[in-house]
Amino acid sequence: MENIIKKYRELGFKLTPQRLGILQYLDGNTSHPTAEDIFYSIRKTYPTISFATVYNTVQALRDRGEIVEITIDPAKKHFDPNTYPHHHIMCDTCRKVEDVFADYSAALKLPAEVSSRFTVTGNHVDFYGICARCRDKGGSEKI
Ligand SMILES: [Zn+2]
Ligand SMILES: [Zn+2]
Repeated sequence: MENIIKKYRELGFKLTPQRLGILQYLDGNTSHPTAEDIFYSIRKTYPTISFATVYNTVQALRDRGEIVEITIDPAKKHFDPNTYPHHHIMCDTCRKVEDVFADYSAALKLPAEVSSRFTVTGNHVDFYGICARCRDKGGSEKI
């Protein structure tokens, strides 16, 4: 925790207890929470926290490159504290997002017409499917 505090002070990030709670929640979190998920979880510890505080903190962290906004879900923005390049898979039924650590760069060949005009600096691959839990339930039921 000391490390997190030090790191964010260095970034010029004003730390309030509520913000610290958000940082703690995000530290090592692999559930790809939405701002709403973070809000509902943090509210258990800080009942007076507003959604705006959560939202603004998450945006500030994203702007500083401390967390990544992932776009796999057209309905909601999910956030990922793991900034190491990786891919994602989302369950079509429960909309849970999991990590995919694999390098597809060799398979992702751009047509020469595009690669002649762009120097590629990154890529991401989104997968969609039905998770084991939803598949066992029949795959169509919302949980
Ligand atoms: Zn599922
Ligand atoms: Zn991820």
